[in-house]
Amino acid sequence: MKDSILTVKQRIAECCEKTNRDANEIQLVAVSKTVSAALVEQAIENGISLFGENRVLDAVAKIESVNKEATWHFIGHLQTNKVHKVIPLFDMIQSVDSVRLAEKIQIECKKCNKSMNILVQVNTSGESSKYGFAPEETIQAVERIRALPSVHIRGLMTIGALTEDENKIRACFRLLRDLFEEIKTLDLPNVRMDFLSMGMSDDYPIAIEEGANMLRIGRALFSKQ
Ligand SMILES: *Cc1c(COP(=O)(O)O)cnc(C)c1O
Repeated sequence: MKDSILTVKQRIAECCEKTNRDANEIQLVAVSKTVSAALVEQAIENGISLFGENRVLDAVAKIESVNKEATWHFIGHLQTNKVHKVIPLFDMIQSVDSVRLAEKIQIECKKCNKSMNILVQVNTSGESSKYGFAPEETIQAVERIRALPSVHIRGLMTIGALTEDENKIRACFRLLRDLFEEIKTLDLPNVRMDFLSMGMSDDYPIAIEEGANMLRIGRALFSKQ
């Protein structure tokens, strides 16, 4: 795993160089959804500090058994009845895909006197299997979610189209980037466009080219080569 971490970091650095970007502005979320707490600890020993999980019950058990300092982001579809389990353990929910979910996060935050950073998930590929707001609904969703005082919008998240066609993947990322810039110019209270979360194991170089500053990478870090 040490080698794959180095390989990924090197590839990120190369992509940044090619596109005149500073690699320090790119955050790597290590998607640990398929690996054990022991492997998470090993990743921490190798310099990874931010992890992504997509299943609440698995994640809760894992986080409780990891004995080293780490930060966790929730990246999967979240059912409203499990929100209360996520609030105390996660720093960010990247996958807010409905206003109803945001409202539930508000209610649960209020109960425990916390607040939550979130990303608004956009379905940029139009694939029906994917969660997220339709691109044309996104600004309206942001307007409604930002009215929730304990829910802080920090950016946008998407999953690129599942295809070999690089142009289609790039179009998804470009669409998210355009929305990101558009929302930024609106300068709305309780909305910060800090994080553009896009790019996974198979497409993160394209995401970097299209402006991603948060990559969510699982297999390229954790699967045995
Ligand atoms: C699993 C997952 C990833 C990581 O995918 P890999 O192909 O393993 O890099 C990223 N984002 C989300 C939302 C995921 O569910």
